Amino acid sequence: MTIFERNLVRFLTSDPAICNIHFTFRNPGGDLSITPRHIKGVALAIQAGRIRVCAGATVQAGAAAQYSQRVNQIQTPHYGFPTNVEERGLLVHEIVHALIDLNCCRNTTRLSDESAAYMAQVMYLAQNGVKNFTRRLPQYQTAFTVLQATGIVTPTGIRPGQTLAWADYEPLRLAIQRRPIYQSVGWLQTTGANGVPSTSQHDCSL
Ligand SMILES: [Zn+2]
Repeated sequence: MTIFERNLVRFLTSDPAICNIHFTFRNPGGDLSITPRHIKGVALAIQAGRIRVCAGATVQAGAAAQYSQRVNQIQTPHYGFPTNVEERGLLVHEIVHALIDLNCCRNTTRLSDESAAYMAQVMYLAQNGVKNFTRRLPQYQTAFTVLQATGIVTPTGIRPGQTLAWADYEPLRLAIQRRPIYQSVGWLQTTGANGVPSTSQHDCSL
C-alpha cells in the first residue's frame, strides 16, 4: 500500500463521521445499502491491493476526483492524503462508487449510484460543520434537502439506518442529470459494475 492508501484505510475504518453513513436506497436494480460495514469492505479491498488509489491523476473535466470501474482505481489529482474536510468528502463520494463496483451492483442505475455518492459526501460534510450548500453545484443542495426531507439529517445530527424510496430521491437524480457531465446518462441506464478482481492490482503508473 502507498502512504495515501494507508491513510485512506485508516480514515474509512476509524473516522466517527464515516460510522454514521448508513442508508438504504431503492432503485430498479434492487435495494442497495451503504453502511459502515460495506465501507469497511472497500477499505479491506484497498488493503489487499484489489482497489488502488491513483494520486496525482488527471481527472475528467468537470470532476474533482473519479472512480474507474474499468481499472478499479480511485483517481484524485492530489498527491497527499487530504487534511481538509472538503477533499476528504470527495474521497467519501468516490468510495461509494468503489463500493457499488466491489458489490457487483451492475443493475443499479447510474443516477442512483451518483445520488448515493452525493448523499454520503453531504452526510460526511454535514457532520463536519458544513451546513450551507447553496453556493455549490445544485446537486449538493438537493442532496442536503433530500437528506433533511427523509429525516436522515436532522438539526441535532444524523439518523443512520433510513431507507429512501425511489421517489424520495428523484429530485436528486434530476439535479444530477441536468449537469453537463451527466447529461448523456439515461434515466434508467445501469452501472454495469462487474466487480473487482480478487487479485492485487498493479500500482498506479501515471
Ligand atoms: Zn460520482
